[in-house]
Amino acid sequence: MTQFSTITPEIVQQIELAVGAENCFIGDSINEDFTRDEMPIYGSSTPELVCEPASTEEVSAVMRICSEANIPVTVRGAGTGLVSGCVAIEGGVIICMMRMNRILEYDMKNLFVRVQPGVRLCDLAADALTHDLMYPPDPGEKTASIGGNVSTNAGGMRAVKYGTTRDYVLAMTVVLPSGEVLEIGRPVTKTSTGYSLLHLMIGSEGTLGIITEITLKLIPNPQESVSFLLPFADIHAAIASVPSIRLSGLDPQSIEFMERDIVDSSAEHTGNHIIPTTVNGQEAGAYILVTFDGNDVDEIYQRAESLAELADEAGAFDTLVLEGPEKRKIWELRGAFLSVIEAEEKLIDEMDVVVPVDAIPEFLGFVHEQGEVHGLRIRSFGHAGDGNLHIYCCSSSLEKDEFLARDKQIMDASYAKCAELNGQVSGEHGIGAAKSAYLKQSVGDTAMGLMTGIKAAFDPKGILNPGKIV
Ligand SMILES: Cc1cc2nc3c(=O)[nH]c(=O)nc-3n(C[C@H](O)[C@H](O)[C@H](O)COP(=O)(O)OP(=O)(O)OC[C@H]3O[C@@H](n4cnc5c(N)ncnc54)[C@H](O)[C@@H]3O)c2cc1C
Repeated sequence: MTQFSTITPEIVQQIELAVGAENCFIGDSINEDFTRDEMPIYGSSTPELVCEPASTEEVSAVMRICSEANIPVTVRGAGTGLVSGCVAIEGGVIICMMRMNRILEYDMKNLFVRVQPGVRLCDLAADALTHDLMYPPDPGEKTASIGGNVSTNAGGMRAVKYGTTRDYVLAMTVVLPSGEVLEIGRPVTKTSTGYSLLHLMIGSEGTLGIITEITLKLIPNPQESVSFLLPFADIHAAIASVPSIRLSGLDPQSIEFMERDIVDSSAEHTGNHIIPTTVNGQEAGAYILVTFDGNDVDEIYQRAESLAELADEAGAFDTLVLEGPEKRKIWELRGAFLSVIEAEEKLIDEMDVVVPVDAIPEFLGFVHEQGEVHGLRIRSFGHAGDGNLHIYCCSSSLEKDEFLARDKQIMDASYAKCAELNGQVSGEHGIGAAKSAYLKQSVGDTAMGLMTGIKAAFDPKGILNPGKIV
């Protein structure tokens, strides 16, 4: 166990000198937001100092000070993470990257953009569109920072067609825990140039280095997109349709699933009743939401005809077309699911597992059974096209200790089941502090030993984001 130092008035002074006293916060001036992320069940922790640097040089200066003084440092983007990754569980310094929020350069010949890590996903996506370009990764939380997205390898809705954040990162500037600045990757489309430090950094959740600049690949913006809602009797029928949709060559941008329970709650909370619950006289129990994109709307509708045939064969009650405002409304509703669960339930824990697509019904069935056995409500939705499930264990009536005890039993059994089905602990939210025990169980001692060795090679003093992943 590493023994860290605490911050002295001299260290405060040195950091203030490096980033400006007006960009440093200590004691009561630290906003409560900096003590947690968006999943408060994992606990909160107040850092000794929060600073908001404006450049790579300032980040490097803070890291040098902390490295010399053996003070733990936690990097924070927008704080929308769900695994306690940006929480300073060992105290020390939080470096918040949100002042580094400039889009620096578009290269229209090579189709890339250079950004600072504090640019918000929604701002980059909107700005790229003004150049008729698309930044394909589309995680649900649009106010997250690009630095946070890269550090967690964020996924999102369009991963079925376009892949995840990892597939769009070409290069980055990194401040190592020693304060040294390193340029990794280059703005080229392929490389076979030694171990990929770039891909080690992507998804490293602030444990290996601090990302201070990122070069991202963009694509020409598809001019049209149409969504289709497929209502089914139950989740088994809904998920059973997914392999044939993926195999069909119809090239869907996204394939999402929703259970009726979350659809009803969301309609009630938001007043958005875009999703019909009775279709052609039949009561829907679950839905598949498919989106096609392209440049020619007629061609999209040709694909839609094949989709409707597949859906019919799979037992869908209909294939409902959603364009324009209707499409916007259904995606707004989809985007509200987590906040609706938060509004309805007092206590929540989350699983973000990924399983082979055909194992989704078995896994969901298992977790629902566990919920019944241990008396917790299970609510779920997620990315059917890539097997990434967001499953919430919830209670509004239990005391926290009792909830945590029951929740742990469900989580232990569910992660074991996930492993049995050849799944992985996290599809897109990461490991952070919350899931590190399950990571260890899942990957085994040898892989864990290698990961620990990688961490030690980057961060021999263990001062960067201690207590996370390894
Ligand atoms: C409603 C809601 C919906 C969501 N939907 C999705 C979804 O569809 N897909 C998905 O993948 N996630 C989703 N998330 C989770 C979250 O938005 C992502 O994990 C996101 O990538 C976190 O970005 P952030 O800027 O908030 O990072 P933070 O939460 O601040 O940090 C996350 C991790 O990244 C590290 N980090 C941040 N910036 C840097 C940097 N510059 N250098 C090094 N390390 C850094 C932190 O140390 C931490 O470990 C959702 C969250 C919410 C609340």
